[in-house]
Amino acid sequence: MMKKKLAIFELTDCGGCALNILFLYERLFDLLEFYEIGEFHMASSAHEGGHYDVGIVTGTVSSHRDLELLKEARNRSDYLMALGTCATHGCLQASVEMPLKEKLKAIYGNEGNPMRALEPKPVVEYVAVDLAIPGCPYDKNELFQALMDIAKGIEPTTPDYPVCIECKLNEYECVLVKKGLPCLGPITLGGCNAVCIRSGLGCIGCRGPLPGEVNPAGEFEILRELGYGEDYIVRKFKTFARWEP
Ligand code: SF4
Ligand code: SF4
Ligand code: SF4
Repeated sequence: MMKKKLAIFELTDCGGCALNILFLYERLFDLLEFYEIGEFHMASSAHEGGHYDVGIVTGTVSSHRDLELLKEARNRSDYLMALGTCATHGCLQASVEMPLKEKLKAIYGNEGNPMRALEPKPVVEYVAVDLAIPGCPYDKNELFQALMDIAKGIEPTTPDYPVCIECKLNEYECVLVKKGLPCLGPITLGGCNAVCIRSGLGCIGCRGPLPGEVNPAGEFEILRELGYGEDYIVRKFKTFARWEP
């Protein structure tokens, strides 16, 4: 069987999503039965170039270098995956609502824009992707399954339900109702198996909003009735997904 060629392209981010691939540990060898990795800076200095069957992009477009690399990744990959919330929604570095000039000045003083920075945006704002797997970081089981499916010619399925569903299936206590914690589970895309609720924490929305019938106004009202301020709630909603409408 011909192995598929795989490349991982890393834009500006914390490195967590690329590192998380290595945390597949021995299951990486299962993937290597189907894939030959041509580019993966976190793990290797190899840089094959040329065409890839599958490209994975992590990070936000935060500089002209990122934008050039993203376009190259799109042009050179048959199947392109946005991996992690930086790539799918913009994540933390895109959450600060301040003109780019002011941000640069606050950090670097009057030196202008030596790194050719751009306003941080998710990759899906610039190019079409074939699959988006959010999460900060994403659930590595989801990535593993998606890559195995692609290798076998099956289109990966993605969750279409909120975190609350997984929370209920696991019979976790509702921290919103019982403790008044500001849990965003009702409006956040599931797929993480409600891992934060298992630890007694509220969901902070790291997988981004549930597309479709999501009701942020209802969640907003519930949090307001619990005593949270409007600014706090709006900031919380925008922490991981400011670029969502
Ligand atoms: S999504 Fe989160 S873990 Fe992944 S690169 Fe961005 S900040 Fe890091
Ligand atoms: S704890 Fe959060 S995710 Fe779980 S049911 Fe309550 S609101 Fe939903
Ligand atoms: S429970 Fe919420 S914050 Fe925690 S991993 Fe899942 S989506 Fe992210």
